[in-house]
Amino acid sequence: MEIEIATIGGYEEVGRQMTAVRAGDDVVIFDMGLNLSQVLIHDNVETEKMHSLDLIDMGAIPDDRVMSDLEGDVKAIVPTHGHLDHIGAIPKLAHRYDAPIVAAPFTIELAKQQVEDETKFSGSFDNDFVKMEAGETMSIGDSGNVEMEFVHVTHSIIDAINPVLHTPEGAIVYGLDKRMDHSPVLEDPIDMERFREIGREGNGVLCYIEDCTNAGRKGRTPSESHARNHLEDTIRSIEDYDGGIVATTFSSHVSRVSSIVEFAKDIGRQPVLLGRSMEKYSGTAERLGFVDFPDDVGMYGHRKSVDRTFKRIMKEGKENFLPVVTGHQGEPRAMLTRMGRGETPYEIEDGDKVIFSARVIPEPTNEGQRYQSERLLRMQGARIYDEIHVSGHLREEGHYQMLDALQPQHVIPAHQDLQGFSPYVDLAESQGYALGRDLHVTRNGNMIQLVE
Ligand SMILES: [Zn+2]
Repeated sequence: MEIEIATIGGYEEVGRQMTAVRAGDDVVIFDMGLNLSQVLIHDNVETEKMHSLDLIDMGAIPDDRVMSDLEGDVKAIVPTHGHLDHIGAIPKLAHRYDAPIVAAPFTIELAKQQVEDETKFSGSFDNDFVKMEAGETMSIGDSGNVEMEFVHVTHSIIDAINPVLHTPEGAIVYGLDKRMDHSPVLEDPIDMERFREIGREGNGVLCYIEDCTNAGRKGRTPSESHARNHLEDTIRSIEDYDGGIVATTFSSHVSRVSSIVEFAKDIGRQPVLLGRSMEKYSGTAERLGFVDFPDDVGMYGHRKSVDRTFKRIMKEGKENFLPVVTGHQGEPRAMLTRMGRGETPYEIEDGDKVIFSARVIPEPTNEGQRYQSERLLRMQGARIYDEIHVSGHLREEGHYQMLDALQPQHVIPAHQDLQGFSPYVDLAESQGYALGRDLHVTRNGNMIQLVE
């Protein structure tokens, strides 16, 4: 059976991930993401109102025109988890393919919401949404020879999976994005046992496509429980403070949000989640049963209800609340940035605490915006508790362990630019792979034929 891989997006950047795998006559697309930094660099760009070709030209969504060189029919579009760099282009590109979106429950729900936001303007979307849980399989195409399986992985968003395409030539493991967490918060540990089995059964693993994000960092990525302990310790240390405490983190990181909520309750404060995306991710997770927030946790997304909540907090006393807000990267329109600029009814006073349960994404725009937001908060007297965070991506030893478990014949580094690939290439070469032979560093828009 011919096996061919099209590297469509996310091979020159972190963002707009998209890869297609052809097994005989059947094609499966993994991820269809947005590169948000290409959007945010322009003022007032509303992607909902823009056409696909303009967004492709901007570098914001994958240039999927290379798909016309791939013979065969697309049978499924498979986003691995709910981060925008993996689902954000679904409303723009998926309708060009006569195939369902197949994903884990939380991811499906987020993808649906993306599409609903979009159809306000177009309405051409009629792909089906098919839910599939980790541990389940589905057959792909009519040959009876190709099956897709979801393996549960741990990442900085709940319900992440790595899809595995089982073909007569061996398995193709699409390994974006994960860390190896054996004591996560809100969900099961990564299913390493299954990865080890896949490495040994049948013809083994033909190809492993891997997210190289932290390959250059030594050791292994700590567990989410590490960030949780750090958070608990920090919040406990300011338990006696009788002024404002505000926390910010990734809205999509529901495990982290749930830890903050829990520790806020522990110190006798009422947690309130503020900002549109806070409400979206935590509300969706609660509705689907991934998390059970205490009954008195408020979630407010709309500007008016947020400002009303801030007024209530000021009236009833800041010492009774712990707002969890958007703006951990200093995004200009996010809640914390507005608070720093004094644009909300919440007044930050001398000695108030701001907890950043995040790390600045090392990119000049973020760094600049975050610097500015932090300066504004400090000018009002805020004390900053920074970097209470662990990454969602594997480091060097995690990558080593994955190669060891899967023993793939071919490896394709992804989710980075060339510079980001290089530490992963060093690691893979130290494990016996050779660049150009079975280790394929590539760019967006290329084809790699693995079996002719
Ligand atoms: Zn991710």
